[in-house]
Amino acid sequence: MQDIQKFISGFRSFRDEYFCREDSPFRELRNGQHPTTMVVACSDSRTDPSLIMQCEPGEIFVVRNVANIVPPYECDSGYHGVSSAIEYAVKILKVANIIVLGHSYCGGISALMKHDAHDDTEFINRWLSVMNPVRDEVMEHFGEVNKKSCTACEMAGILRSVENLMTFPWIEERVTNGSLNVHGWYFEMETGQLLSYLCQTKSFEPLTFPCPKRKKMVKE
Ligand SMILES: [Zn+2]
Repeated sequence: MQDIQKFISGFRSFRDEYFCREDSPFRELRNGQHPTTMVVACSDSRTDPSLIMQCEPGEIFVVRNVANIVPPYECDSGYHGVSSAIEYAVKILKVANIIVLGHSYCGGISALMKHDAHDDTEFINRWLSVMNPVRDEVMEHFGEVNKKSCTACEMAGILRSVENLMTFPWIEERVTNGSLNVHGWYFEMETGQLLSYLCQTKSFEPLTFPCPKRKKMVKE
């Protein structure tokens, strides 16, 4: 209950000090949103894209799920929450960028690697199985589950999600005609760096310098 009270008082401060402010972005946004970028991020409580990229309301259209996975294009009778968010961003909002934002110490990827999503769960294993081929490739290369192989799987998972985005015909079309860019980014929590996948080097390279105050923020 204490948490809930904290959230309510947080909302009160937000409303009084931000929402009602003379120059609040919500004054414009009441008429509609026009974000230029969609972000597919993990549900992890530490990787809120609006916070880590310091975005204002209306700037990014976000879908979050376990392990920031984009499933492949599937037109069947399933309930495709992620795909519908992607469809809305691309077809209706006409975003110019999609960022798949992964991160270090991802619990979803760790469960995928260790095959240890809790046995009594009903949905997690099935969801993570989208990334089974990625895990198998990583395990073939590294042979064991450790920080290195989990990092490799987190990064390879971002690339697989980017590939899966391209299986949506209306995304492939827009990327080809240059009206949409797709990015694979990785938030490295231990150093406070943001990395981006570069096709030229076929690797994730820093977009930012390490955290200036404390280079290592999380013990390995
Ligand atoms: Zn995660």
